[in-house]
Amino acid sequence: MRRVSVFGATGSIGQSALDLIAREAGTYDVVALTGGRNLVQLAADARRLKADIAVTCYPECYSELKGLLADTDVEIAAGPGAIAQAAARPVDWALSAIVGAAGLVPGLEALSHGTTLALANKESLVTAGPLLLGRAKAHGATILPVDSEHSAVFQALVGEHMAAVERIIITASGGAFRDWPLDRLATATLAEASSHPNWEMGQRITIDSASMFNKAMELIETKEFFNVSPDMIEVLVHRESLVHALVGFNDGALMAHVGPPDMRHAIGYALHWPERRALPVERLDLAKIGSLTFEAPDHARYPALGIATRVMDESGLSGAVFNAAKERALDGFIAGEIGFLDMAQVVSRTLDKMSSRDGLQNASVTLDNVLETDRLARIYAAETFNQLG
Ligand code: NAD
Ligand code: MG
Repeated sequence: MRRVSVFGATGSIGQSALDLIAREAGTYDVVALTGGRNLVQLAADARRLKADIAVTCYPECYSELKGLLADTDVEIAAGPGAIAQAAARPVDWALSAIVGAAGLVPGLEALSHGTTLALANKESLVTAGPLLLGRAKAHGATILPVDSEHSAVFQALVGEHMAAVERIIITASGGAFRDWPLDRLATATLAEASSHPNWEMGQRITIDSASMFNKAMELIETKEFFNVSPDMIEVLVHRESLVHALVGFNDGALMAHVGPPDMRHAIGYALHWPERRALPVERLDLAKIGSLTFEAPDHARYPALGIATRVMDESGLSGAVFNAAKERALDGFIAGEIGFLDMAQVVSRTLDKMSSRDGLQNASVTLDNVLETDRLARIYAAETFNQLG
C-alpha cells in the first residue's frame, strides 16, 4: 500500500485528488487529511478513506471535528502547528493543496522527511522557491508540479536536456474579464471576478485568474521550478485552455501539452509519476473543437505580468513581498475594501516600499527572513489601501 497525505483536502484540488485516490482505494493507505472550516467534508473524507489523522487549521474547530469523528479511530488535531506535525508523518507521497503562504511550512516539513511532494501550492514556490528547492535537495526529496502549466512543461521535458531548451511558454485563458472594455475593469465586482470561463477552482485562484496575478505567480513558479532565466519564459493567451504549456527547443521544435481543463490530469500525473496511468478525464475531440487560438497578452489589461518580471529580476525576498502583498490585496478586494484594479497598485507600492529597505534583494531566503518579510509586507500592503488614487 502506498501511504499518502493530502494537505488542503477539502479544497478544489484536494477534492479532485481524493476522487482519484478513492477510485483505487485498495492501493492507498491514507495517513493525513487537512482542511479548514469545512469540517463536515473533512470528517466524511477521513471516515470513508480511513485516514489516520484529520487536522483543521483552526484551533477553535477542534471539538466540533472531534465530535464528528467520535465513533472512529481517526486521530484529531487542530492549528497550523498540528498541520506541520502531520506533514512530518512518514508517507510515500503528499499533496500540498493548501491555498496561500500557509502551505510553506507544511511543505518544508514534508520535504525534510524525504517525502515526494506534489505541489499545487504555488504560493510557497513564489514566496520561498530557493528554500523549498534547497530543502528538497538536502533531503533527497522530489517536488512534482501540480499546476496544469507546470505539469505540462514537466511532461514535455521527459527525456530532454535543459541545455536544449530555448523557451517555456505557459498559456492563460485571460480570465473573467478578457473581453471587458478596459475602462470597466475598475468597477468589476467580487461576483464578476469569481467566475472563470474554463476552470472550476477555489475562489482565490479564480479572482487571481481574472487579474492574471495567477499567471504572474506561475511565471515566478516556472523560473524557480525549472531554474530558467526570466527572459526564457513567455505567456500566451489561449482562450480554450486546452494547450497548457509549450516548450521551445534549440532545433525550433515546440512540444505542446494538450489536454482537457481538468486538474485531475496534473494531479494524477504527479500521483502516478514516474508512470503514466489511465485517468478518468475527458478525451478531446480536436476535429469537433476545430480551432485553437493564441494571442499576445495585453499588459495594460494585466499589469500583474509586468510586476512578475520585476520580481523575477529582483529575486531574493521579492517573491515573499509579492505573494504576501498580493494575498493581502486579494483579502481587501474580497472584503470590499479596495477595487479590482487597486490590487496591482497595492502590490507595486508594497514592492516599491520594501525594495528600498536595505537588503531585501540580497538577504538570504531563510524561513525566518521569509516569515518576517511576509508579515511586514501584509502590514505595508494594508497601509497602501488609504493611499490609492
Ligand atoms: P481552495 O480554496 O478550494 O482550497 C484550499 C484548501 O486549503 C482548503 O482545504 C482549505 O481548508 C485549506 N486552507 C485554507 N487556508 C488554510 C490555512 N491557513 N492553513 C491550512 N489550510 C488552509 O483552493 P484550491 O483552488 O484548491 O487551490 C489550492 C492550491 O492549489 C492553491 O495554491 C492554488 O493556487 C493551487 N492551484 C489550484 C488550481 C485549481 O484548479 N483549483 C489549479 C492550479 C493550482
Ligand atoms: Mg495554472
